[in-house]
Amino acid sequence: MAHPDHLAQSDTQSNRGAKYAPGESRGGMRERLRSIPPSQAAAVLKGQANTAELPADPRLLAASGYAAATERLKVRRATPDTLEGLLLIAEMDAARLPAVVGDLDARHTLDPWLASVSDADLAQQALPLLRVLEHARKQGREPLRERAIRALELRGEDPDERLGTYDRTRDVRTHYSEELAEQKPDGTWTTNTYSADKAYSLGITRDEVVVSVRIRLHPDVAAGDPEALKARWRDGITAVWNGKYKVTNGRKKLPLRFRPLFIPAPEPRASHQEVRIIPGPSRSNETRWDTEDQGRTTAAHEFGHMVGARDEYSMPMKDEKDQVVASYDETDSIMSGDYGRVQPRHLEEIRRDLNRMRSPKEPEFRVEPL
Ligand SMILES: [Zn+2]
Repeated sequence: MAHPDHLAQSDTQSNRGAKYAPGESRGGMRERLRSIPPSQAAAVLKGQANTAELPADPRLLAASGYAAATERLKVRRATPDTLEGLLLIAEMDAARLPAVVGDLDARHTLDPWLASVSDADLAQQALPLLRVLEHARKQGREPLRERAIRALELRGEDPDERLGTYDRTRDVRTHYSEELAEQKPDGTWTTNTYSADKAYSLGITRDEVVVSVRIRLHPDVAAGDPEALKARWRDGITAVWNGKYKVTNGRKKLPLRFRPLFIPAPEPRASHQEVRIIPGPSRSNETRWDTEDQGRTTAAHEFGHMVGARDEYSMPMKDEKDQVVASYDETDSIMSGDYGRVQPRHLEEIRRDLNRMRSPKEPEFRVEPL
């Protein structure tokens, strides 16, 4: 792929945005941009500047966060800070990002990577974020990397799949059931059987084991803002499940990363779960989430079912004749009513499935705290 002449390209973009003052040179534009105080520059980048407080020229720029951002990126070098800026733009308006990154790439550090990708790949919408992600990884910038991962995940994209970093993957689907105890009005006990589906993809990279669940959301007409719900649930689930455990077999130590991917309803990709969003408050289960469900509690609990963890409340306590005589709840468990922590037993299905992916002489994996 040939790199466009950057000056010609950026002039085209600037003309489109019409951000030069009449008769103003490129150098003049740069000088004006340099005069933006750093405290305001971040807000301008985000398109959130309080324009009344800005000096006259930046106020013009703030009218278009995109134009301000591209110009700022041209004036300064493509340092990690400008990449942070790019990510902010991505969150603000993903549709504008390809043009911004294309402009930046033509001259700066992303050149070699850009030269190696196909035009077909370039046409993919997620690519600019993938570039940011690659760059962040190479530079060891963890917070930036995590933000790029989050932005991709919120679009239902698996960053490792897109970057081709999985060594091995395995798709797992199993139906399972559980018995919960219930007390009848006459005081005697009975059990009810509930069923659920364990379904996820396991992926092994050089650095991690990723457990991803593609969840297709079907919002009821009256059910909240799906984008806001996605963000709340994704962040809550990852806060509860990620950064807690690793798998090890003596040779490898791989942290477990959990990845809920909310794919939009019209998407043709196969899902692991189809989840209906209903107006809350209501009773949620694995495939019915209500708009008041919180990420760290209900969503993280239902996600547990998706990766094969059973309920740990109302569990039947039986006597020697196998009669149910009471029920009990686990404490400090995300699978019980107190929404506590993820425990190693919740990862048992994953451990077993992972061991089925081993190469012939690879020792068995076990789960340990990170
Ligand atoms: Zn449950």
